[in-house]
Amino acid sequence: MKRPTTKGRVWQRGEPGFDAAVLATSFSGRDPGHRPKLMVQANDVFEVIAAVKRARREGLKISVCSGGHSWAQNHLRPDGLLLDLSRLRGIEIDAGQRIARVGPGGWCVDLDNALKRQGLFMPVAHAPDVGLGGFLLQGGFGWSSRVYGLGCEQVIGLDLVLADGSLVHASAEENADLYWAARGAGPGFFAVVVRFHLRLHPRPRFTGMLAQVFAMRHLEEVFTWADAVGAEVAREVEFQILLTPKAMGLFAPGIEVLAPVMTDSRARASAMVDFVRRSPLRRKAHLTTPLLPLSTAMMSWGASITHFPPRMRWCADNLWTDAPVADLLPGLRAVADSLPPAPSHALWLNWHPPAQRPDMAFSLEAKRYFAVYGEWRQAEDDARYGNWATERMQAMAAHGKGIQLADENLGRRPARFMAEANLARLDRIRAERDPEGRFHSWMGRPPAVD
Ligand SMILES: Cc1cc2nc3c(=O)[nH]c(=O)nc-3n(C[C@H](O)[C@H](O)[C@H](O)COP(=O)(O)OP(=O)(O)OC[C@H]3O[C@@H](n4cnc5c(N)ncnc54)[C@H](O)[C@@H]3O)c2cc1C
Repeated sequence: MKRPTTKGRVWQRGEPGFDAAVLATSFSGRDPGHRPKLMVQANDVFEVIAAVKRARREGLKISVCSGGHSWAQNHLRPDGLLLDLSRLRGIEIDAGQRIARVGPGGWCVDLDNALKRQGLFMPVAHAPDVGLGGFLLQGGFGWSSRVYGLGCEQVIGLDLVLADGSLVHASAEENADLYWAARGAGPGFFAVVVRFHLRLHPRPRFTGMLAQVFAMRHLEEVFTWADAVGAEVAREVEFQILLTPKAMGLFAPGIEVLAPVMTDSRARASAMVDFVRRSPLRRKAHLTTPLLPLSTAMMSWGASITHFPPRMRWCADNLWTDAPVADLLPGLRAVADSLPPAPSHALWLNWHPPAQRPDMAFSLEAKRYFAVYGEWRQAEDDARYGNWATERMQAMAAHGKGIQLADENLGRRPARFMAEANLARLDRIRAERDPEGRFHSWMGRPPAVD
């Protein structure tokens, strides 16, 4: 979604420009065909409250979007009222208290830039234009989340408009049920977040990245090595592997081993990424870059240009896995061999979560994260590529623990995304807080457990 440049207004289905205005809310260029009856582009919290009350009066279900980056286009549902919050993008930073108050429509890069100017940090998404709203609700694996925690772990409070139109604050002390639910419910949340209150951290003094590139024929060796060293990699290093049809410097299908690192000095960072330079596979690499100092914003914009160009048509899916790497290799090879054209890609993230997280809805993760992102330009290729991500992850699902809501594909492939007990608790809170089912929920639910 572009940054809005006009004042928001109410759109009725059927009026000129309605379709284009609705589709412009979505990062993905696919058109699922659904249209709301009404779209409200809210300019402030009062308009959000008015929209929720109107939906209630008129018996309309509500869908919400902030930055529009849901791969699944979760907010594009039939009929109902679509609430577009992209204009709620205020960012206030209290450096003394180390707290930020942000609107859900703010972009991750805007918050990151504002914090950088004050020597502060919080883990935001890896693409600049991801909306804070959806990112913080679903969990949020951000820059250096292995050190600072998930995006949602930085949330210390939220201002919410509930299904009855009331405006409330939620935190550990107040409306604690909503506070618990908002940290992980993602696209199944049942209230409108109009403001997040976030905990901030001192900014690490050095940020940079080292990359190593291999031809695709080395896939099995690279993943076997990556898995063997993964647990020992410093938490400051966000060790990841991309499978891409056009690898950096190779301009052919290949494997990019990436080691972004954030820490307090270049010397420490260099020592932390040495495991890549000294890997037993290094002589097979097509290239190894030096450790390049790069800001998080530069890395985010770089990823956006090379891997996430706007208005493409997308399919995405993912899995958390603790399975032995040998069991995963056939699936990884099948992904590599079937990648749609560049900039489609697959991401392997060396995650190794901490032993404990706070009690919150987010509750499913594993040592490794694997996600696939297929992209193409033309509508006539929908049939060819549209199910690629679903099919690839379906084939590997037996080796997974479930999925992450960040890259959810629940409408096409229902899968587990939180612990059973947490899902049951979330359902109970929903039934109490949104008894009429005013808000749309996830597009698919995990299969019931016997
Ligand atoms: C290019 C790209 C890069 C990404 N990189 C990362 C990454 O590095 N880390 C990561 O964790 N995720 C990443 N994601 C996934 C992304 O965080 C999620 O898709 C997230 O939901 C997007 O937030 P949004 O506000 O832009 O999206 P939206 O599509 O606006 O929101 C997604 C859903 O969240 C709910 N929602 C959003 N805002 C509100 C609100 N204010 N109140 C109530 N409900 C709301 C709605 O149900 C909505 O349908 C990426 C996605 C893309 C497309």
